[in-house]
Amino acid sequence: MIALSLAEIAEVVGGQTHDIPDPSVQVTGPVVRDSREVEPGSLFVAFVGERVDGHDFAAAVVEAGAAALLASRPVGVPAIVVDDVQAALGALARHVVQKLGTTLVALTGSAGKTSTKDLVAQVLQRKAPTVWTPGSLNNEIGLPLTALSATEETRFLVLEMGARGIGHIRYLADLTPPKIGLVLNVGTAHIGEFGGREQIAQAKGELVEALPEDGAAILNADDPLVRAMASRTKAKVVLFGESGEADVRAENVTLTDAGQPVFRLHTPSGASDVTMRLYGEHHVSNALAAAAVAHELGMSAEEIATALSEAGSLSRWRMEVTERPDGVTVVNDAYNANPESMRAALRALAAMGKGRRTWAVLGKMAELGDESLAEHDAVGRLAVRLNVGKLVAVGGREASWLQLGAYNEGSWGEESVHVSDAQAAVDLLRSQLRPGDVVLVKASRSVGLESVAQALLDSG
Ligand code: ATP
Ligand code: MG
Repeated sequence: MIALSLAEIAEVVGGQTHDIPDPSVQVTGPVVRDSREVEPGSLFVAFVGERVDGHDFAAAVVEAGAAALLASRPVGVPAIVVDDVQAALGALARHVVQKLGTTLVALTGSAGKTSTKDLVAQVLQRKAPTVWTPGSLNNEIGLPLTALSATEETRFLVLEMGARGIGHIRYLADLTPPKIGLVLNVGTAHIGEFGGREQIAQAKGELVEALPEDGAAILNADDPLVRAMASRTKAKVVLFGESGEADVRAENVTLTDAGQPVFRLHTPSGASDVTMRLYGEHHVSNALAAAAVAHELGMSAEEIATALSEAGSLSRWRMEVTERPDGVTVVNDAYNANPESMRAALRALAAMGKGRRTWAVLGKMAELGDESLAEHDAVGRLAVRLNVGKLVAVGGREASWLQLGAYNEGSWGEESVHVSDAQAAVDLLRSQLRPGDVVLVKASRSVGLESVAQALLDSG
């Protein structure tokens, strides 16, 4: 965070100072909401949660060196008191990014935000100091906290924006106004809450509506609902994808035997070859998106291709590939799941598993509303069509739909099974895995299937 006096912060957020003997004292450390992350000079943001009230930590965080709290009531130690802590945090973030003049890149989409954000960050980092959203902190609290971690040195700020409804992205883009806005895809993630794909497109497109005339809207040419967002922006439109009209495209896409994409990257300023370290063909689209951003910010095709070829995953449990000493490969993609990412992961498994025995250990995809049965059924069927050796569906009702889909597509007997919980899946796998097998583990976050991946690695 850049140094700001408590007086300036109070003015920006419209707050009252309490128990502050010297308002010229500066906040120099990070702005944090977790008391364990407080450093000398920090500003501690006190939220009232369901179980924990941040105000209870007032004395402890000041003891740990915090300059003050941003709080909703006086707490007997230095505090800036406001009615609405979240709104105040947002106002502070907006003030800081304006003051810094950093170039903001924001991205949204139904699947692949974090993976792509990590790629964009790793590519831009080669050109100039870059700050990006850690993990998936893409909401009204995580986004301002990330923006506030930028410093005077920061040239690029890369922000993941998530939406669970209309108006969410507009709110986030208003706090941290992007110059470059990237929309990856419109799928069915959170469709239960949104009501339909058109509404999801409406919500995600708020990002390009927020862009200035001298900005750039980076849109997926292969996704019709994203492509159509071109009419909703004042900014220049840059298309990426396989479509011939795309400005940034991939040619000769293949996968290595291990499942890593290889392609020739074309940008308006030249072409160069990429061999990715990440697994799965879906990363081609993510890489093109990152390349389009980097091209817009002045990087050459060679620089971009080198960066994409060296980029790894910065966030946990997304297609994390580990080989056990006995030759069993565990693919931990247990961070989250929706229909698009399930399909992408199954295709990656099929590619990696050529000539080997493959296992898909899958759990439910949450928040699909009325489409839940059909989507689980379709994923079960796809597993069979891709020739996955064995489907292990883990959990309750949705898992039974996965297994039934596989069964109805022609997988019977031992090829698809339904087990009640993670432990049962681990027991089954331990008794049946053979050297050389490839196991994909994937489900929505709430299922917590990473425990299966971990148990398999621990027992290898
Ligand atoms: P969240 O909404 O949970 O923040 P996200 O949009 O940030 O998700 P990631 O965490 O990058 O997405 O990836 C989620 C899952 O989607 C992973 O399983 C990943 O392998 C898969 N995935 C990544 N990119 C794509 C893509 N372009 N198309 C489909 N699936 C993808
Ligand atoms: Mg994410």
